[in-house]
Amino acid sequence: MDVLQPLPAREILLPGESLASFLGRTSEAMGYESVGRLLGLIPDRTDMAANVNQLAPGVAIEALSYRLKRSPEALLDMTVHRFASLLVLSEAGNSPASVCDRKTILRYFSASSPICPQCLSEDVTPYDRLYWSLRPLPLCTQHAIILIAQCPACRRRLRPTRDHRIKCRCGLDLRKADAAPSGATASKLVHQAEAWLRDQRSPLCGMSTAACFWWVDRLAKAVSETATWLEYSSHELRISADCSTESLAWLAALDILTNWPDRLEDFLEESQRIPKHKETPPGVARAFRKLLQPAVHLERLGFSAPADALRSYVLRRYPTGHRSKKDGLFQSTKSGEVKIRPWVTPATAADTLKLPYGTVVELIERGVLAGTVGETVLGGRSVGLVSRDSIIELKRALTSATVPRESPQGLGLSGQSVIDLIQATKVTTHSADRSTVLEPSTRF
Ligand SMILES: [Zn+2]
Ligand SMILES: [Zn+2]
Repeated sequence: MDVLQPLPAREILLPGESLASFLGRTSEAMGYESVGRLLGLIPDRTDMAANVNQLAPGVAIEALSYRLKRSPEALLDMTVHRFASLLVLSEAGNSPASVCDRKTILRYFSASSPICPQCLSEDVTPYDRLYWSLRPLPLCTQHAIILIAQCPACRRRLRPTRDHRIKCRCGLDLRKADAAPSGATASKLVHQAEAWLRDQRSPLCGMSTAACFWWVDRLAKAVSETATWLEYSSHELRISADCSTESLAWLAALDILTNWPDRLEDFLEESQRIPKHKETPPGVARAFRKLLQPAVHLERLGFSAPADALRSYVLRRYPTGHRSKKDGLFQSTKSGEVKIRPWVTPATAADTLKLPYGTVVELIERGVLAGTVGETVLGGRSVGLVSRDSIIELKRALTSATVPRESPQGLGLSGQSVIDLIQATKVTTHSADRSTVLEPSTRF
Protein backbone atom coordinates (compact mmCIF):
# COMPACT_ATOMS: atom_id res chain seq x y z
CA MET A 1 0.00 0.00 0.00
CA ASP A 2 1.22 3.45 -0.85
CA VAL A 3 1.67 5.15 2.52
CA LEU A 4 1.87 8.59 0.95
CA GLN A 5 -1.65 8.68 -0.47
CA PRO A 6 -4.44 10.60 1.32
CA LEU A 7 -7.28 8.39 2.52
CA PRO A 8 -10.32 8.43 0.24
CA ALA A 9 -12.78 8.46 3.13
CA ARG A 10 -12.68 11.84 4.82
CA GLU A 11 -15.33 12.46 7.44
CA ILE A 12 -16.60 15.94 8.28
CA LEU A 13 -15.19 17.42 11.50
CA LEU A 14 -17.99 17.73 14.05
CA PRO A 15 -18.22 20.54 16.63
CA GLY A 16 -15.95 19.93 19.61
CA GLU A 17 -15.00 16.44 18.40
CA SER A 18 -11.91 14.73 19.74
CA LEU A 19 -9.20 13.55 17.36
CA ALA A 20 -9.64 9.96 18.55
CA SER A 21 -13.33 10.13 17.70
CA PHE A 22 -12.58 11.56 14.26
CA LEU A 23 -10.02 8.83 13.55
CA GLY A 24 -12.48 6.21 14.78
CA ARG A 25 -15.18 7.41 12.42
CA THR A 26 -12.70 7.64 9.54
CA SER A 27 -11.54 4.11 10.24
CA GLU A 28 -15.14 2.86 10.21
CA ALA A 29 -15.81 4.69 6.94
CA MET A 30 -12.75 3.05 5.43
CA GLY A 31 -14.05 -0.34 6.48
CA TYR A 32 -10.98 -1.05 8.61
CA GLU A 33 -11.35 -3.70 11.27
CA SER A 34 -9.85 -1.34 13.89
CA VAL A 35 -8.44 2.16 14.37
CA GLY A 36 -5.06 0.51 14.83
CA ARG A 37 -4.92 -0.13 11.09
CA LEU A 38 -5.36 3.55 10.33
CA LEU A 39 -2.74 4.52 12.90
CA GLY A 40 -0.43 1.90 11.38
CA LEU A 41 -0.37 3.96 8.21
CA ILE A 42 1.67 6.65 9.94
CA PRO A 43 5.24 5.92 8.83
CA ASP A 44 7.12 7.34 11.82
CA ARG A 45 5.30 6.84 15.11
CA THR A 46 8.14 7.65 17.48
CA ASP A 47 6.31 10.70 18.83
CA MET A 48 2.95 8.95 18.85
CA ALA A 49 1.16 9.31 22.18
CA ALA A 50 -0.65 6.29 23.62
CA ASN A 51 -3.77 8.45 23.54
CA VAL A 52 -4.13 10.22 20.20
CA ASN A 53 -6.07 13.00 21.88
CA GLN A 54 -2.72 13.95 23.45
CA LEU A 55 -0.76 13.98 20.21
CA ALA A 56 1.63 16.95 20.18
CA PRO A 57 2.93 18.79 17.10
CA GLY A 58 5.36 16.53 15.25
CA VAL A 59 5.74 14.03 12.45
CA ALA A 60 2.68 11.98 13.47
CA ILE A 61 0.41 15.01 13.25
CA GLU A 62 2.03 15.96 9.93
CA ALA A 63 1.41 12.47 8.56
CA LEU A 64 -2.19 12.44 9.75
CA SER A 65 -2.65 15.89 8.31
CA TYR A 66 -1.61 14.59 4.90
CA ARG A 67 -3.60 11.37 5.18
CA LEU A 68 -6.80 13.12 6.27
CA LYS A 69 -6.39 16.25 4.17
CA ARG A 70 -6.73 18.48 7.22
CA SER A 71 -4.32 21.12 8.40
CA PRO A 72 -2.10 20.21 11.38
CA GLU A 73 -3.69 23.15 13.24
CA ALA A 74 -7.19 21.74 12.71
CA LEU A 75 -6.09 18.35 14.05
CA LEU A 76 -4.27 19.84 17.05
CA ASP A 77 -7.43 21.77 17.84
CA MET A 78 -9.07 18.39 18.42
CA THR A 79 -6.45 17.39 21.01
CA VAL A 80 -5.83 18.41 24.61
CA HIS A 81 -3.47 21.12 23.32
CA ARG A 82 -6.52 23.11 22.34
CA PHE A 83 -6.72 24.00 26.05
CA ALA A 84 -3.00 24.75 26.50
CA SER A 85 -3.41 28.52 26.77
CA LEU A 86 -6.16 28.06 29.34
CA LEU A 87 -4.73 25.28 31.49
CA VAL A 88 -0.93 25.47 31.47
CA LEU A 89 0.06 27.48 34.53
CA SER A 90 2.54 30.26 33.87
CA GLU A 91 3.64 33.44 35.55
CA ALA A 92 1.31 36.45 35.30
CA GLY A 93 2.14 38.47 32.20
CA ASN A 94 3.87 35.61 30.35
CA SER A 95 2.60 34.62 26.94
CA PRO A 96 0.28 31.59 27.13
CA ALA A 97 1.50 28.09 26.27
CA SER A 98 0.58 26.49 22.96
CA VAL A 99 1.18 22.87 24.03
CA CYS A 100 0.09 21.09 27.20
CA ASP A 101 2.98 19.63 29.17
CA ARG A 102 2.77 16.14 30.66
CA LYS A 103 1.80 17.34 34.15
CA THR A 104 -1.02 19.49 32.81
CA ILE A 105 -2.36 16.56 30.78
CA LEU A 106 -2.28 14.19 33.74
CA ARG A 107 -3.88 16.79 35.98
CA TYR A 108 -6.84 17.71 33.80
CA PHE A 109 -7.49 14.97 31.25
CA SER A 110 -8.94 11.55 31.77
CA ALA A 111 -7.07 8.55 30.40
CA SER A 112 -10.40 7.06 29.42
CA SER A 113 -12.99 8.60 27.15
CA PRO A 114 -16.17 9.35 29.16
CA ILE A 115 -19.40 9.65 27.19
CA CYS A 116 -22.91 11.03 27.54
CA PRO A 117 -25.30 8.28 26.34
CA GLN A 118 -28.04 10.80 25.68
CA CYS A 119 -25.85 13.02 23.49
CA LEU A 120 -24.83 9.93 21.50
CA SER A 121 -28.52 8.97 21.18
CA GLU A 122 -29.45 12.37 19.83
CA ASP A 123 -26.49 12.70 17.44
CA VAL A 124 -27.22 12.13 13.77
CA THR A 125 -23.59 11.01 13.61
CA PRO A 126 -22.57 9.90 17.12
CA TYR A 127 -19.18 11.25 18.19
CA ASP A 128 -17.06 11.97 21.31
CA ARG A 129 -16.62 15.55 22.49
CA LEU A 130 -13.17 16.61 23.64
CA TYR A 131 -14.80 18.36 26.61
CA TRP A 132 -15.92 15.01 27.98
CA SER A 133 -12.32 14.09 28.76
CA LEU A 134 -11.80 17.10 31.03
CA ARG A 135 -11.65 15.75 34.58
CA PRO A 136 -12.89 18.96 36.28
CA LEU A 137 -16.07 18.79 34.15
CA PRO A 138 -17.50 15.31 34.83
CA LEU A 139 -21.05 16.08 33.66
CA CYS A 140 -23.02 16.65 30.50
CA THR A 141 -24.64 19.99 31.21
CA GLN A 142 -27.05 19.63 28.33
CA HIS A 143 -28.63 16.54 29.87
CA ALA A 144 -27.61 17.07 33.52
CA ILE A 145 -26.17 13.58 33.87
CA ILE A 146 -22.86 12.21 35.07
CA LEU A 147 -20.62 11.08 32.22
CA ILE A 148 -19.94 7.36 31.96
CA ALA A 149 -16.25 6.37 31.90
CA GLN A 150 -16.66 2.60 31.85
CA CYS A 151 -19.09 0.20 30.25
CA PRO A 152 -21.92 -0.56 32.71
CA ALA A 153 -22.10 -4.15 31.41
CA CYS A 154 -18.49 -5.38 31.23
CA ARG A 155 -16.91 -2.59 33.38
CA ARG A 156 -14.22 -2.02 30.75
CA ARG A 157 -12.86 1.49 30.58
CA LEU A 158 -14.11 3.32 27.48
CA ARG A 159 -11.02 3.95 25.39
CA PRO A 160 -10.61 7.10 23.27
CA THR A 161 -9.67 4.97 20.25
CA ARG A 162 -12.44 2.41 20.60
CA ASP A 163 -13.46 1.03 17.22
CA HIS A 164 -17.11 2.05 17.45
CA ARG A 165 -18.49 5.24 18.96
CA ILE A 166 -21.73 3.66 20.15
CA LYS A 167 -20.72 0.09 20.84
CA CYS A 168 -18.59 -1.39 23.59
CA ARG A 169 -16.35 -4.37 22.87
CA CYS A 170 -18.84 -6.50 24.82
CA GLY A 171 -21.55 -5.50 22.37
CA LEU A 172 -23.51 -3.13 24.60
CA ASP A 173 -25.10 -0.22 22.78
CA LEU A 174 -23.65 2.69 24.76
CA ARG A 175 -26.62 4.87 23.89
CA LYS A 176 -28.75 2.63 26.09
CA ALA A 177 -26.43 2.82 29.10
CA ASP A 178 -28.03 4.19 32.27
CA ALA A 179 -26.46 7.45 33.45
CA ALA A 180 -27.04 8.96 36.89
CA PRO A 181 -28.63 12.43 37.06
CA SER A 182 -26.23 15.12 38.22
CA GLY A 183 -28.67 17.58 39.78
CA ALA A 184 -29.30 21.14 38.66
CA THR A 185 -26.80 22.78 41.04
CA ALA A 186 -23.87 20.64 39.94
CA SER A 187 -24.86 21.08 36.34
CA LYS A 188 -24.83 24.82 36.78
CA LEU A 189 -21.35 24.67 38.33
CA VAL A 190 -19.97 22.76 35.36
CA HIS A 191 -21.78 25.02 32.95
CA GLN A 192 -19.99 27.99 34.54
CA ALA A 193 -16.64 26.23 34.36
CA GLU A 194 -17.22 25.51 30.68
CA ALA A 195 -17.83 29.23 30.20
CA TRP A 196 -14.50 30.02 31.92
CA LEU A 197 -12.78 27.87 29.32
CA ARG A 198 -14.88 28.87 26.35
CA ASP A 199 -14.81 32.61 26.99
CA GLN A 200 -11.35 32.63 28.58
CA ARG A 201 -12.83 34.19 31.69
CA SER A 202 -11.62 33.87 35.23
CA PRO A 203 -13.86 33.51 38.28
CA LEU A 204 -11.35 35.14 40.63
CA CYS A 205 -10.21 38.71 40.21
CA GLY A 206 -6.60 39.01 39.09
CA MET A 207 -6.25 35.30 38.34
CA SER A 208 -5.68 33.72 34.94
CA THR A 209 -7.99 30.87 33.91
CA ALA A 210 -5.02 28.48 34.22
CA ALA A 211 -4.28 29.72 37.75
CA CYS A 212 -7.92 29.21 38.74
CA PHE A 213 -8.04 25.65 37.42
CA TRP A 214 -4.68 24.90 39.05
CA TRP A 215 -6.16 26.10 42.34
CA VAL A 216 -9.34 24.06 41.75
CA ASP A 217 -7.12 20.99 41.35
CA ARG A 218 -5.50 21.67 44.74
CA LEU A 219 -8.87 22.28 46.33
CA ALA A 220 -10.16 19.00 44.89
CA LYS A 221 -7.23 17.12 46.42
CA ALA A 222 -7.83 18.74 49.83
CA VAL A 223 -11.56 18.05 49.58
CA SER A 224 -11.02 14.41 48.63
CA GLU A 225 -9.31 13.87 51.99
CA THR A 226 -12.15 15.45 53.94
CA ALA A 227 -14.89 12.81 54.02
CA THR A 228 -17.40 14.99 55.87
CA TRP A 229 -17.07 17.74 53.27
CA LEU A 230 -17.54 15.24 50.45
CA GLU A 231 -20.71 14.07 52.16
CA TYR A 232 -21.88 17.64 52.64
CA SER A 233 -21.15 18.52 48.99
CA SER A 234 -22.91 15.41 47.75
CA HIS A 235 -26.00 16.46 49.68
CA GLU A 236 -25.81 20.19 48.85
CA LEU A 237 -25.19 19.64 45.15
CA ARG A 238 -27.66 16.73 45.04
CA ILE A 239 -25.11 14.46 43.43
CA SER A 240 -26.03 10.85 42.79
CA ALA A 241 -24.30 8.18 44.89
CA ASP A 242 -23.05 6.75 41.56
CA CYS A 243 -20.69 9.70 41.16
CA SER A 244 -17.05 8.73 41.76
CA THR A 245 -15.16 10.32 44.65
CA GLU A 246 -12.83 11.97 42.17
CA SER A 247 -15.66 13.61 40.25
CA LEU A 248 -17.39 14.64 43.45
CA ALA A 249 -14.16 16.26 44.70
CA TRP A 250 -13.85 18.25 41.46
CA LEU A 251 -17.45 19.43 41.76
CA ALA A 252 -16.96 20.36 45.42
CA ALA A 253 -13.83 22.31 44.44
CA LEU A 254 -15.73 24.15 41.70
CA ASP A 255 -18.39 24.93 44.29
CA ILE A 256 -15.75 26.49 46.57
CA LEU A 257 -14.41 28.63 43.75
CA THR A 258 -17.87 29.70 42.63
CA ASN A 259 -18.87 30.75 46.14
CA TRP A 260 -15.55 32.42 46.93
CA PRO A 261 -14.37 33.00 49.61
CA ASP A 262 -17.20 32.03 51.98
CA ARG A 263 -17.28 28.39 50.93
CA LEU A 264 -13.50 28.13 51.31
CA GLU A 265 -13.80 29.31 54.90
CA ASP A 266 -16.63 26.85 55.55
CA PHE A 267 -14.42 24.09 54.19
CA LEU A 268 -11.47 25.13 56.32
CA GLU A 269 -13.71 25.16 59.39
CA GLU A 270 -14.97 21.68 58.61
CA SER A 271 -11.50 20.34 57.99
CA GLN A 272 -10.48 21.49 61.49
CA ARG A 273 -13.02 19.08 62.95
CA ILE A 274 -11.40 15.97 61.52
CA PRO A 275 -10.38 13.77 64.46
CA LYS A 276 -6.69 14.07 65.03
CA HIS A 277 -4.65 10.91 64.52
CA LYS A 278 -1.20 10.26 65.84
CA GLU A 279 0.44 10.94 62.48
CA THR A 280 -1.66 14.02 61.72
CA PRO A 281 0.49 17.13 61.73
CA PRO A 282 -0.48 19.54 64.50
CA GLY A 283 -1.80 23.05 64.30
CA VAL A 284 -4.24 24.39 61.74
CA ALA A 285 -2.29 22.48 59.13
CA ARG A 286 -4.87 19.90 58.05
CA ALA A 287 -6.52 21.67 55.15
CA PHE A 288 -3.77 24.23 55.03
CA ARG A 289 -1.18 21.53 54.59
CA LYS A 290 -2.71 20.87 51.18
CA LEU A 291 -3.54 24.46 50.30
CA LEU A 292 -0.88 26.61 51.85
CA GLN A 293 2.08 25.92 49.59
CA PRO A 294 -0.04 26.06 46.42
CA ALA A 295 -1.43 29.43 47.55
CA VAL A 296 2.07 30.74 48.24
CA HIS A 297 3.26 29.34 44.89
CA LEU A 298 0.45 31.10 43.04
CA GLU A 299 1.19 34.34 44.81
CA ARG A 300 4.81 34.14 43.69
CA LEU A 301 3.56 33.73 40.14
CA GLY A 302 1.52 36.91 40.53
CA PHE A 303 -1.87 35.45 41.55
CA SER A 304 -2.61 36.42 45.12
CA ALA A 305 -6.35 35.69 45.54
CA PRO A 306 -5.95 32.29 47.29
CA ALA A 307 -3.18 33.54 49.60
CA ASP A 308 -5.22 36.67 50.38
CA ALA A 309 -8.22 34.53 51.31
CA LEU A 310 -6.15 32.23 53.53
CA ARG A 311 -4.49 35.19 55.25
CA SER A 312 -7.83 36.83 55.87
CA TYR A 313 -9.20 33.59 57.32
CA VAL A 314 -6.20 33.01 59.58
CA LEU A 315 -6.20 36.55 60.91
CA ARG A 316 -9.90 36.46 61.75
CA ARG A 317 -10.01 32.84 62.94
CA TYR A 318 -7.00 33.19 65.18
CA PRO A 319 -7.24 36.77 66.39
CA THR A 320 -4.88 36.17 69.28
CA GLY A 321 -2.21 35.43 66.76
CA HIS A 322 -0.70 32.06 67.44
CA ARG A 323 0.16 31.79 63.78
CA SER A 324 3.83 32.28 63.16
CA LYS A 325 5.66 33.48 60.10
CA LYS A 326 6.64 29.88 59.37
CA ASP A 327 3.57 29.37 57.29
CA GLY A 328 4.93 31.59 54.53
CA LEU A 329 1.61 33.35 54.12
CA PHE A 330 2.83 36.34 56.02
CA GLN A 331 6.23 36.69 54.47
CA SER A 332 5.14 38.88 51.61
CA THR A 333 5.44 42.61 51.89
CA LYS A 334 1.70 42.91 51.39
CA SER A 335 0.96 41.27 54.73
CA GLY A 336 2.14 43.95 57.10
CA GLU A 337 -0.81 43.36 59.42
CA VAL A 338 0.90 40.43 61.07
CA LYS A 339 3.72 42.67 62.22
CA ILE A 340 1.42 44.71 64.38
CA ARG A 341 -0.39 41.79 65.92
CA PRO A 342 -0.17 42.01 69.70
CA TRP A 343 0.46 38.33 70.37
CA VAL A 344 2.93 35.85 68.94
CA THR A 345 3.84 32.23 69.61
CA PRO A 346 6.45 31.27 72.21
CA ALA A 347 8.51 29.90 69.31
CA THR A 348 8.47 33.32 67.63
CA ALA A 349 9.37 34.91 70.96
CA ALA A 350 12.28 32.48 71.28
CA ASP A 351 13.45 33.40 67.78
CA THR A 352 13.16 37.11 68.46
CA LEU A 353 14.97 36.95 71.80
CA LYS A 354 17.44 34.30 70.63
CA LEU A 355 16.62 32.20 73.65
CA PRO A 356 15.81 28.50 73.96
CA TYR A 357 12.12 27.73 73.82
CA GLY A 358 12.21 26.34 77.37
CA THR A 359 13.60 29.62 78.67
CA VAL A 360 10.78 31.57 77.06
CA VAL A 361 8.26 29.22 78.66
CA GLU A 362 9.91 29.77 82.04
CA LEU A 363 9.94 33.53 81.51
CA ILE A 364 6.22 33.37 80.78
CA GLU A 365 5.54 31.24 83.84
CA ARG A 366 7.51 33.65 86.01
CA GLY A 367 5.69 36.63 84.53
CA VAL A 368 8.77 38.17 82.91
CA LEU A 369 7.04 37.82 79.59
CA ALA A 370 3.30 38.46 79.45
CA GLY A 371 1.46 35.49 77.98
CA THR A 372 0.20 31.97 78.40
CA VAL A 373 1.54 28.53 77.72
CA GLY A 374 -0.53 25.50 76.82
CA GLU A 375 -3.79 27.34 76.33
CA THR A 376 -6.22 24.91 74.74
CA VAL A 377 -8.00 26.02 71.63
CA LEU A 378 -9.67 24.38 68.64
CA GLY A 379 -9.92 20.63 68.66
CA GLY A 380 -8.01 20.19 71.90
CA ARG A 381 -4.79 21.50 70.48
CA SER A 382 -2.72 23.68 72.72
CA VAL A 383 -1.00 26.89 71.78
CA GLY A 384 1.00 29.48 73.63
CA LEU A 385 0.76 33.23 73.34
CA VAL A 386 3.27 35.91 74.23
CA SER A 387 2.72 39.64 74.33
CA ARG A 388 4.77 41.32 71.63
CA ASP A 389 5.18 44.40 73.84
CA SER A 390 6.69 42.37 76.65
CA ILE A 391 9.15 40.77 74.20
CA ILE A 392 10.22 44.18 72.95
CA GLU A 393 10.63 45.40 76.50
CA LEU A 394 12.69 42.39 77.55
CA LYS A 395 14.86 42.60 74.47
CA ARG A 396 15.51 46.23 75.19
CA ALA A 397 16.43 45.40 78.79
CA LEU A 398 18.76 42.58 77.75
CA THR A 399 20.61 44.65 75.19
CA SER A 400 20.76 47.81 77.29
CA ALA A 401 24.11 48.78 78.72
CA THR A 402 22.39 49.76 81.96
CA VAL A 403 19.83 47.28 83.12
CA PRO A 404 17.14 48.95 85.24
CA ARG A 405 16.70 47.60 88.71
CA GLU A 406 12.95 47.31 88.30
CA SER A 407 11.07 46.59 85.12
CA PRO A 408 9.34 49.76 84.00
CA GLN A 409 6.50 47.66 82.65
CA GLY A 410 5.84 46.05 86.02
CA LEU A 411 6.55 42.56 84.73
CA GLY A 412 7.24 41.36 88.21
CA LEU A 413 10.99 40.79 88.18
CA SER A 414 13.90 43.18 88.19
CA GLY A 415 16.15 43.39 85.19
CA GLN A 416 18.94 41.71 87.12
CA SER A 417 16.61 38.85 88.01
CA VAL A 418 15.86 38.36 84.35
CA ILE A 419 19.53 38.08 83.62
CA ASP A 420 19.97 35.74 86.59
CA LEU A 421 17.11 33.64 85.34
CA ILE A 422 18.48 33.54 81.84
CA GLN A 423 21.94 32.69 83.07
CA ALA A 424 20.52 29.99 85.32
CA THR A 425 18.86 28.38 82.35
CA LYS A 426 22.10 28.38 80.31
CA VAL A 427 21.13 30.77 77.58
CA THR A 428 22.34 29.87 74.13
CA THR A 429 21.85 31.70 70.91
CA HIS A 430 22.38 28.64 68.72
CA SER A 431 19.28 28.18 66.68
CA ALA A 432 20.02 24.46 66.34
CA ASP A 433 19.53 24.12 70.08
CA ARG A 434 16.28 26.03 69.93
CA SER A 435 14.85 23.89 67.20
CA THR A 436 15.03 20.80 69.34
CA VAL A 437 12.75 22.21 72.01
CA LEU A 438 9.96 23.62 69.84
CA GLU A 439 6.73 22.13 71.03
CA PRO A 440 4.78 20.28 68.33
CA SER A 441 1.76 22.56 68.60
CA THR A 442 3.74 25.50 67.34
CA ARG A 443 5.12 23.81 64.28
CA PHE A 444 3.33 24.18 61.04
ZN1 LIG B 1 -25.48 14.85 26.94
ZN1 LIG C 1 -18.87 -3.43 27.68
